[in-house]
Amino acid sequence: MPAFVLDIKDLDAIGREFAFVVEPSWLAAELEGTDLRAHPERSKGTLEVRVQRSNDDVLVQAHVVTGLVADCDRCLEEVFLPIDVRVTTLLSPEGSGPIDVEFAEDALDRDTYRGDEVILDEIVREHIVLEVPMQIHCPGGCEMPSIPASVRGPDDFGAKPEVDPRFASLLKLKDDSKKDQE
Ligand SMILES: [Zn+2]
Repeated sequence: MPAFVLDIKDLDAIGREFAFVVEPSWLAAELEGTDLRAHPERSKGTLEVRVQRSNDDVLVQAHVVTGLVADCDRCLEEVFLPIDVRVTTLLSPEGSGPIDVEFAEDALDRDTYRGDEVILDEIVREHIVLEVPMQIHCPGGCEMPSIPASVRGPDDFGAKPEVDPRFASLLKLKDDSKKDQE
């Protein structure tokens, strides 16, 4: 069952505002199959939408506030990621022709709807997921799990390569000549 449904008959050119509750159970279902999870309490959020309709085109400005849980890439601890995202999407009836020029700005996201209902679930899900950073780290910073000495290689795995002092002056010359060229 979709959670965020607008009836096309309720929409007009002046614009209307709607508010929905984002339930953790909804988010949990939407995140199934990803590395992300809903938090049983903290994922409870809001979806506020302002909707304008021009003939069959529907312009949706949405503000989603929720949050989700992911694993830290470094220490694998759970990290709560607050989500606060604004989305503007233009929806047209499925299979319709070119979009009404009044709204046809290329900066807009585009989508379609079917029948008399504009269902926002997929748009909301997509933009929540897009807000998740590529790299997830604990907000306070954390350490890499330490590698036991027994599995360390002879080259002291992870250490920075050190420049032989005999080459250091040569490298400096190289750096200086590079700067001169710039
Ligand atoms: Zn961490």
